[in-house]
Amino acid sequence: MTPADLGIVLRATPLRESDLLVVLYTETHGRVSAVARGARKSQRRFAVTLSSLVLARYQLGRRPRGDVWGLESGEVVREWTQLAFDMASHAHAGYAAELVGALLPAESPEPTVLPLVTSLWDSLVTNGPSPAALRAFELALMDVIGQRPALDACAACGSPELVRGTVFDPARGGVICKPCAAMSRGPAVRPLPPETLAYLRAISTHPSPESAATLDRDEQFTSVDRASARDAMVAMVVALVGHPLRSLEYIAKLGAAARRAPHP
Ligand SMILES: [Zn+2]
Repeated sequence: MTPADLGIVLRATPLRESDLLVVLYTETHGRVSAVARGARKSQRRFAVTLSSLVLARYQLGRRPRGDVWGLESGEVVREWTQLAFDMASHAHAGYAAELVGALLPAESPEPTVLPLVTSLWDSLVTNGPSPAALRAFELALMDVIGQRPALDACAACGSPELVRGTVFDPARGGVICKPCAAMSRGPAVRPLPPETLAYLRAISTHPSPESAATLDRDEQFTSVDRASARDAMVAMVVALVGHPLRSLEYIAKLGAAARRAPHP
């Protein structure tokens, strides 16, 4: 038996009659898969700790076989489950969980990941769904895996001359200066206006998603900058993950529905 490990649930899927297969991210083990036996029949050992938006101490048992652990019990440390009642907040939290699961390798613990996720949850409680907080989260997570996109100098030649004509190229690792841009091709390459770059740089100076959320109210940035920054970061994330993210499609649907709704 290992000592209880602080962590969160990234995903839970029914397994057989009464079990749950959960993907956790824990302080000591990083991303692990574990079977919670009987969790669908009895809530006694797990209570709400198998839901999303909960920070808990998990008792992992021994590994029954392969890379799947047994999960013995869970004890709530703190919960943000009220976020589940707001569709957009819940969607942002779901994206964060999917991103952690997709970007981080199994059983490779990184100490900054749990505080990063809970900072995003705190921000959702305090500020509601925030584009800047989500961008800060993406940048920080890419930093953890050593894939933070270049924003200060051309990722190809290192030139800091990022004037008009600069593009964002996920495959080459971030911003690409105008002279190097001729070599950037493919559907993921997009123009990166200086204003969008300034917005992304402003986000990257904030220490946490919760702190970056203040940029939502900064009037020097427009909705065009925010949308263009989102498209660049999402292109980078999808390029790193290698497939589309389901939670992103859901966020896009929510956004489209909100735009169709009549304005009061
Ligand atoms: Zn260059």
